[in-house]
Amino acid sequence: MKISKVVVEPLDIPLKESFEIALGRFDMAKNVLVKIVLQNGITGYGEASSSEFITGDNQNTLISIINYLKPLLLGKSIEEYIKILQELKRAVKFHPGAFMALESALLDAYTQTLEIPLYKFLGGVSSKIETDITLSISSLENMLKNVFYHLKRGFKIFKIKVGKNVKEDFEKVVRVGEEFPQIEIRIDANQGFTPKEAVKFINSLVEKGIKITLFEQPVHCKDLKGLKFVTENSPVPVAADESVFTPEDAFMVARERIVDVINIKLSKCGGILEALDIISIARASHLELMIGCMLESNVGLAGSVHLACGTGCFSYVDLDSPLLLKELPFKGGFELEGPFLTVKHIERGLGISPA
Ligand code: MN
Repeated sequence: MKISKVVVEPLDIPLKESFEIALGRFDMAKNVLVKIVLQNGITGYGEASSSEFITGDNQNTLISIINYLKPLLLGKSIEEYIKILQELKRAVKFHPGAFMALESALLDAYTQTLEIPLYKFLGGVSSKIETDITLSISSLENMLKNVFYHLKRGFKIFKIKVGKNVKEDFEKVVRVGEEFPQIEIRIDANQGFTPKEAVKFINSLVEKGIKITLFEQPVHCKDLKGLKFVTENSPVPVAADESVFTPEDAFMVARERIVDVINIKLSKCGGILEALDIISIARASHLELMIGCMLESNVGLAGSVHLACGTGCFSYVDLDSPLLLKELPFKGGFELEGPFLTVKHIERGLGISPA
């Protein structure tokens, strides 16, 4: 079945509340929507979130690159999706957001033609995962209010963004942990600490009896020596996020035992095929896996949900972006019930349809 049309357009979605991390602040998800239409009318969906602070791409550059790549898709057979992707990746430099969105649309269309859901195509190990919910850097009052709100909706795992101010961060995490001893807390510093600050920070929290289960990207992404130092001196597992984009990066941190956990994001590695390579490296090295996201709506997140369900290999799931958005322009991809993401009801592809 041949590809007859490729549509790329901006998808701006306002956030429920402004989102701040150590690297910047956002009020709007400036995303990009991709649709690949086959001759028989089947439409595959993909989305990229622009996360310029992390990937260097913004909405405009992603749209230009995808438009530039269009001729490499039109008229091609969807059955040759791997060959098509290889050609796309050879044609331009590494733009993981663009690759991720195009791959999602290709795989969605392909598995629709096969009449199976993507998570089954990827192994079908499970059909339900539990995500954490992220608390961005904000006032303590706001953070406590957010924990209370999400606890009532069934969330048990909270990821707290830190890395702007060691002292304030420490006090906030302690207060949240003391106020809500029943929750599990993951910490993400987004590169904001020095190695020594990070080690002191995490040890002091654990000594205080706060239930921390993961420490994500404590130091600068290029400081692998510092990251290893934190891992060796942390009482909880340390995860690499910004330090690992590609399978090559994953191989490096695995070989040098830099971290305990690798956080895979399709928006960093460029899609599911690369994610599968990272998964293999992590498994062979006995590293644990986390799956994360940027600010994708359910369209862009669906590939990650299907990957996590299909492979069943992620110990830490951080796929909460739709919960941070004010509205979702499309339906489907998965179903959200509190912290649970389920794909069991999906019959073909990603299961996305216009709202
Ligand atoms: Mn992170």
